[in-house]
Amino acid sequence: MHKTVSCCMCKEKAPKYIRVLDEYICEECERVISTLDMDDVRYEYYNIIFKKIWHNFLVTL
Ligand SMILES: [Zn+2]
Repeated sequence: MHKTVSCCMCKEKAPKYIRVLDEYICEECERVISTLDMDDVRYEYYNIIFKKIWHNFLVTL
């Protein structure tokens, strides 16, 4: 059965995604992240989510 996952960034259902630790990031968000500049306001937002992902991953170890 095909598993549907939700993107941890935009919370949308992601038919195509990459897996980062225990979370999923859809293709669209992955593309946005890879083209983001350090001074982009969204960079800080994604940075916070990444920190959260890491945190969640580390506590479940
Ligand atoms: Zn997404």
